[in-house]
Amino acid sequence: METPISDSIGLKIIPLGGLGEIGLNMAVFEYGDDIVIVDCGLMFPEPDMLGIDIVIPDITYLTDRPEKVRAILLTHGHEDHIGALPFVLRQINPPIYGTALTLGFVKEKLKEYELDNKVDLRVVRPRDVVDLGVFSVEFIRVAHSIVDGCGLAIATPEGVVIHTGDFKLDQTPVDGELTDLATFSRYGEAGVLA
Ligand SMILES: [Zn+2]
Repeated sequence: METPISDSIGLKIIPLGGLGEIGLNMAVFEYGDDIVIVDCGLMFPEPDMLGIDIVIPDITYLTDRPEKVRAILLTHGHEDHIGALPFVLRQINPPIYGTALTLGFVKEKLKEYELDNKVDLRVVRPRDVVDLGVFSVEFIRVAHSIVDGCGLAIATPEGVVIHTGDFKLDQTPVDGELTDLATFSRYGEAGVLA
């Protein structure tokens, strides 16, 4: 008898958007009873989507199992990474982790929707590690066109997954914060699953 996928043990990485399209970045990492979400973006509509203001990811997968969701992790403050939060947080409300600037953008956005006092925002700094169920996640500085961006090293029972976020290898970023190649290469040498 085959085990149904929903009950199988093992690491699942499920993009709810953001692959092969601009915007809508949102990825689910699931292992056993734990889920962490990376980013929560929206997409501005294509010209043929008449009458539509914004496009947000389909989070049915999450609203079907809200008790598993440990956190939303944000890589940076662009709309295509945080824009869907006001809509998603009405349905699931886990703690949100991000750097100070990224969460600053989030707070402003949530104020517009009168949600800013109803959410649990947790500021992290690059190289901070947070434990979330079976996952342990390190934030890694990356340079990008918006400051205070991070990539993530997500340690899972099956190995480490690197999620770079959006980045560029800019040696002279406006804020002087270089992509943390030392940390990325430390993970590279130790071995990375994906
Ligand atoms: Zn970006």
